[in-house]
Amino acid sequence: MIHSSLVSRIQIAPQGPEFSRIVLGLWRLADWRMSPQERVTFLKQALELGITTIDQADIYGDYQSETLLGEALQLAPELRDKLQFVSKCGIKLISTARPAHRIQHYDTSRAHIIASAENSLRSMRIEQLDVLLIHRPDPLMNADEMAEAFEHLQQSGKVRYFGVSNFTPAQFELLAARFPLVTNQVELSLLHLPPLHDGTLDLCQKLRIAPMIWSALGGGDLFRESATTDPQVLRVREVLNALSAELNLPASTIALSWILQHPSHPLVLTGSGRIAALKEAALACQHTLSREHWFRLWCASAGKGVD
Ligand code: NAP
Repeated sequence: MIHSSLVSRIQIAPQGPEFSRIVLGLWRLADWRMSPQERVTFLKQALELGITTIDQADIYGDYQSETLLGEALQLAPELRDKLQFVSKCGIKLISTARPAHRIQHYDTSRAHIIASAENSLRSMRIEQLDVLLIHRPDPLMNADEMAEAFEHLQQSGKVRYFGVSNFTPAQFELLAARFPLVTNQVELSLLHLPPLHDGTLDLCQKLRIAPMIWSALGGGDLFRESATTDPQVLRVREVLNALSAELNLPASTIALSWILQHPSHPLVLTGSGRIAALKEAALACQHTLSREHWFRLWCASAGKGVD
């Protein structure tokens, strides 16, 4: 397999794994209605672009997405060593797949973290997760107990590194004081600016931890027809389209370059099941916007100029 150098790679933390800066997000995998063989082809096409890192969660696709990936990896076991696997735990959904759950809630107990990670490994038919993330901050999280779970999973070789998702800087620092964390996976896009200004990315930069960015295209709202009445969407689209014509680049590439060039070195998760969209994402690693272009987009999103 020829690895094009379209997608760059980065060590995500001083003591952390090396990941592709574009990460294959599989939240929507069950919606794509791919056969197992089509899933294998999709993984191979992503790999050819240099997208080697996969983002999963126990709950994706109503607890089915990891199994769908596992079916593909069983068909093409040679892909396992070429991929890095991220999964998450800590949310309990009401689901026919989990009949014991009576209310949707968080569970960051030692027992649940360990059981969920072991189940992710079985479902994906792999032996080790590269990173396990706590999916959402749990008001009942006990940092000592979570660190014990992490230590157990690390010592048994089941998980290499640990991180969090959707944590505030204070929550991140609490857990990082007990156990080294390699990332915070957060929402950031031209339709969602808070992590730029609430200290989330500042802390990542301070600790040299690369954030992982979800819904980097606003969950598709940047391009979806049904979102066309939202004034923020309209403002951002207008500037994206103007820059797209000026720079001769797809609008989605520009929207992702805008994120990638933040000095905290973010990784961007894709959410599309189309290889053409993955190519546009991969291309984003090859371009840096000028400061003026970057701020034109920020101003369009914020609906105001800078002070
Ligand atoms: P996104 O890239 O913002 O949105 C993807 C959606 O946009 C897809 O439905 C896609 O549809 C649509 N889309 C429309 N035009 C597109 C274009 N030109 N290029 C690409 N996509 C386009 O990402 P997301 O799916 O919301 O999230 C990405 C990943 O982040 C998920 O898979 C998951 O791994 C992760 N995530 C994490 C959390 C968390 O709490 N940690 C939360 C949400 C998601 P098509 O398939 O038709 O292209």
